[in-house]
Formats: sequence, C-alpha cells, structure tokens
Amino acid sequence: MSLEVLHPTTLAEALAMLAAYGEDARPLAGGTALVLLLRHGLIAPRALICLEEVLDLHRIELNPDHIWIGAMVRLQTLARSSPIRACLPVLAMACGEVGNIRIRYQATLGGNLAEADYASDPPIALMVLDAVVRTQKTENSRAIPIAEFFQGFYTTALEPGELIVGIQIPAPPPGARMTYLKFRTRSAEDRPCLGVAALGVFEDGICQDLRVAVGAACERPWRLPEVEQLAIGRSLDERAIRRIAQGYADQIETLSDLRGSADYRRRMIEVHIRRALEEIRNGCGLLSANAGR
Ligand SMILES: Cc1cc2nc3c(=O)[nH]c(=O)nc-3n(C[C@H](O)[C@H](O)[C@H](O)COP(=O)(O)OP(=O)(O)OC[C@H]3O[C@@H](n4cnc5c(N)ncnc54)[C@H](O)[C@@H]3O)c2cc1C
Repeated sequence: MSLEVLHPTTLAEALAMLAAYGEDARPLAGGTALVLLLRHGLIAPRALICLEEVLDLHRIELNPDHIWIGAMVRLQTLARSSPIRACLPVLAMACGEVGNIRIRYQATLGGNLAEADYASDPPIALMVLDAVVRTQKTENSRAIPIAEFFQGFYTTALEPGELIVGIQIPAPPPGARMTYLKFRTRSAEDRPCLGVAALGVFEDGICQDLRVAVGAACERPWRLPEVEQLAIGRSLDERAIRRIAQGYADQIETLSDLRGSADYRRRMIEVHIRRALEEIRNGCGLLSANAGR
C-alpha cells in the first residue's frame, strides 16, 4: 500500500485531512519517532499529515500572564531561545538535554508530548510549570492540564484525529528558582534513567511555593503535592530536603528497564531530589522577570 504525504498550510486544512483519513492518517512533526516506527513496520498509515507548513504551529508568544509555545517549535529553539531561558529556565534546560543536537534540531515539543515515551525530558519540566496542552479536533478544542495529559505507559488523553496545537504556560512567579537534573546510565546522548525538575519561590529564605516532578523512572511524570507541602512556610533546611526526597522515593512507583532497576531508580530519586532542592535553595536558575514585561 502506498503512503501519501500531505502538506496542509493551515490548521483547518490539517484537521480536515485528519478527519477525512480517520485512523489511517498520522500527523508528522519532526519525524524522529514516527519514521522509526514506519521503518520497523510497527505502524502502516495510509497518509502522513505533515505539519511543517502550518506556520501558526511554529509560534512562540510571551504575554504578561502566560507563554505560548506552538506544537511545532523545535526542542533546540526552546533550549537556545533567550526569552525562554530567562522566563522558563527549567524547560530550556530539559530541552537542551534531549538526545543530541541533530535530534533537538528536528524534534518538536508537540511530537515529544504526543509520543509520550516515559523516558522523555521536556514533560517533566512542563509538570512544574503547570503547563496546559491545547488541542483541536475539527471544531472542538480542549485545554488539558499536563498532569492529566499523560495517562500511563505511552498513553495520552489525545483522541484519534486530535492535534496538539500548542502548550500554554502560566507566567511563573517573579524570582522563582528552577532546575532540571537528568540522570543517564548508558551514553551521554541517551534518554534519561531519571529526570527531576524543581521550582521554588522563597521570601526572606522562607519557601512560599515548591513544585517537584519526577519522570522517566515511572510510567508517566509525577508530582506529589502533599509532599511538596512539607516545604511551605519554612526554610528549605537539610531536614526538610531529606523528608521531601524520601517522600518521593517512597511513593513513586518506579519501573525496571535497561537503564536501571526499580530499586536503583528509587535510590536515585532520593539522591537527585536532594541535589535539585539544594540547587534551588542556593539560587540556581534565578528567574529575573515575568514573561512579556
Ligand atoms: C536517538 C534519539 C535520542 C532521543 N533522546 C531523547 C532524550 O534524551 N530525551 C527525550 O525527551 N527524547 C528523546 N528522544 C525522543 C525525541 O525527543 C522524540 O522522538 C521527539 O520528541 C518526537 O518529536 P517529533 O517532532 O520528531 O515527532 P514525530 O516523530 O513527528 O511524531 C511523534 C508522534 O507524535 C505524533 N504527533 C506529532 N505531532 C503531533 C501533534 N502536534 N499533535 C498530535 N500528535 C502529534 C505523531 O503522529 C507520532 O505519533 C530521542 C529520539 C531519538 C531518535
């Protein structure tokens, strides 16, 4: 069966093509994951709907209250963009850690989320930013909080024919400190064995807000709000850091694969959350200004 590659230039056209082909079509973004699936014969769609020429999906927009990142924005753009590095350093750090430079120049944020490989970096950063995934399917649009977007092992809330249009991120509080730690066990270009993202807001040394996300060690990225709460209204001293790191290590249901066993990952969660919290307490990734100001 021959494979058609279609090149819509507007979102409406792309959605109409997806609706016309139904389950027989796949959206094509950077192709870094999709082409491997095609080559190995794991999928055999009749049509690929290439999103490259839908210019609206390539847009980055900085507003006073939120940042908009179109689904087709490349991971390398996010890693290198000055405004993204200033406003959302945790996302720039996570995107800059993906694979190698060839992958980052090709892979898109929308493709990375839709692929939903558990061993991915950007979703972990988006969890501490409280990102919202905006989608569209013919006339219907949805706003899906990132924590609800990932539903399990390689499973998302996306329905057939539904496109990720972009990711909306509320402007973080001014002065929020953020970091992303990627832990690899094989090669320098490998996917993570574990990723930890952290965001903290401090006033006179007292923690006002703390968000910690863990991913790649489990089926989907996780936050534990009741454990984050242990930091609020107090200084992030060694004892508080230990309790939070231990809380995550105890409660995250880790998995085993070639990159590490479930038990090893639990231990690494404890170590890396401790390091991430020490970094934000000590002033890493200081956020200087609100987006759009
Ligand atoms: C060698 C290598 C190393 C890698 N290392 C890492 C790593 O360290 N960390 C990491 O996070 N990732 C890593 N990746 C994964 C890479 O980030 C993903 O392959 C990439 O993010 C997918 O993006 P893409 O734009 O290429 O998507 P595509 O391959 O084009 O698409 C992926 C899937 O998403 C669907 N899709 C694409 N866009 C949309 C959309 N807008 N709406 C709905 N569905 C859509 C496609 O139909 C397909 O099912 C690696 C990949 C490779 C090949």
